[in-house]
Amino acid sequence: MAKITDLLRAGPTLSFEFSAPRDEDGVRRLNRTLDRLARLQPSFMSVTYGAGGSSRGPTAEVVHHIHHDLGVTAMPHLTCVAHTREEIGVLVDHYREDGVENLLALHGDLPEGGADLRPGQFTRAIDLVGFVRERAPFAIGVAAHPEGHPKASSMEADREHQAAKLRVADFGMTQFFFRVEHYERFMTEMRARGVETPVIPGIMPPTNIEGIARMSAMNNTEFPAEIVARLEAAGEDVAARREVGVEVATRLCEGLLAAGAPGIHLYTMNFSDAPRAVVANLGLRPGLG
Ligand code: FAD
Repeated sequence: MAKITDLLRAGPTLSFEFSAPRDEDGVRRLNRTLDRLARLQPSFMSVTYGAGGSSRGPTAEVVHHIHHDLGVTAMPHLTCVAHTREEIGVLVDHYREDGVENLLALHGDLPEGGADLRPGQFTRAIDLVGFVRERAPFAIGVAAHPEGHPKASSMEADREHQAAKLRVADFGMTQFFFRVEHYERFMTEMRARGVETPVIPGIMPPTNIEGIARMSAMNNTEFPAEIVARLEAAGEDVAARREVGVEVATRLCEGLLAAGAPGIHLYTMNFSDAPRAVVANLGLRPGLG
């Protein structure tokens, strides 16, 4: 197991993100996907954490499996919305005792129907970073939003907040986006504010118009019309849509690595075919085509 800070120094890193499953079918699919993607010897794998009630899911179990059974460095996501300091402390201690060395510290979004949950004791991810830092020697990552967070009062306030958060974190990891320029502009603006923290771009192979359009609208992400048009042209042909998604993600990753990105983090949606094809195209893990 390793700290992501050390992996980044030896970079570029290759990592995958998974969602904690909610039912037995989801567990079976996730386990198949994890097995297939672990064979690519990624630098690390991360697991999302829901922000309330049942959507919190079995993140800790999946992280344990990745770390202890698959032998891959694991990073749990940790959201603080609707959690007390004590609850967060229990989770952090559990991960430390389980041998985990990395955490992604997030505010989190309440799930639908989560409005009734009691408010949490942290109001911003940056406060969670400070809390975790005092409690355990994790490498701590934070979310970065290259196109600005949807709830920001202004782009300037958002950039300032993101710079302050990145200064106290060990690394950043971005929301998905589809143009290299969004990442480059974000990094230039962070450097102008004195931020030297590495930021790993998060890349989503776009294979599904409705799903990506919904998430893009939620995240303030531009979903370029040319990509939508190519997916529309592929119609209901799943293989053809996957081909479009893999090609778009491959070109984006190539551009980002050429622009100096410290690694590539692929959003998998718990499927392995598209991420495997992107990794093969990039030659990040030779011989795995
Ligand atoms: P924060 O950094 O606390 O705030 C987000 C934004 O709010 C800031 O960018 C800024 O615009 C504004 N803001 C906050 N405080 C201030 C301030 N003092 N001054 C000015 N502006 C301020 N969600 C989940 O529920 N589970 C997950 O597992 C999960 N994983 C994610 C992984 C990645 C890589 C990313 C990018 C996002 C993930 N999210 C996840 C979504 C994330 O929780 C949401 O985007 C959430 O709305 C913001 O979280 P944050 O940690 O960026 O919050």
